[in-house]
Amino acid sequence: MSDIYNEGLLIVISGPSGVGKGTICKELMKRYDYNVSISATTRSPREGEVDGVNYHFLDKKSFEEKLSNNEFLEYAQVYGNYYGTLKQSVENEIHNGKNIILEIDIQGTLQVQKVYKNAIYIFLLPPSINELKNRILKRGSETESSFNLRFSSVSEELKYMNSYDYAVINDDIDKAVEKIHNIINTEMNRISRINLDKFLEEYSF
Ligand code: 5GP
Repeated sequence: MSDIYNEGLLIVISGPSGVGKGTICKELMKRYDYNVSISATTRSPREGEVDGVNYHFLDKKSFEEKLSNNEFLEYAQVYGNYYGTLKQSVENEIHNGKNIILEIDIQGTLQVQKVYKNAIYIFLLPPSINELKNRILKRGSETESSFNLRFSSVSEELKYMNSYDYAVINDDIDKAVEKIHNIINTEMNRISRINLDKFLEEYSF
């Protein structure tokens, strides 16, 4: 990236549970080498999940310690567990001119919006409510009560769509990934991202 830019972009990808945020972020990393922030959580690892790769898995006490030390950019209690984004990793990346994606829930997004006015906020939508239900069930990792909890918050979550910049329907993973990649590419070219002093220096006017 040329150094005429002020900072890297913060991209927030959010939406209801089961909409495919995780899969889309994995594809964005794989195909385009995007940098996705690793959240901290108190939930137990699912089969195949690795500490420091999928999440930083913390016990409640360690999470609460970090909370009281003000180490989180945002955090939320989602379905009875804590989830949060550590400030430091995000700030370092952005200040070094690198883009970073946060895959977080809606409560967390509302907190990030207070700090990062120029971030890009993307809301992922399921093609239909029935399809969302199928996807959560297919994942097979939920007990009946955790499924009910996740599914019952969907209509509440959809009401927050208005606080985002873009809505992307995840009807097909490939298409949704391409749409998000295009949004990010377009946003990278905003005039407001250019540092005028650096620009004039670089172009020797
Ligand atoms: P899961 O348990 O399925 O991995 O995630 C449950 C929910 O927590 C998802 O909606 C996911 O986007 C959200 N989530 C994951 N990490 C974070 C985080 O750091 N902050 C917030 N606010 N939500 C998160």
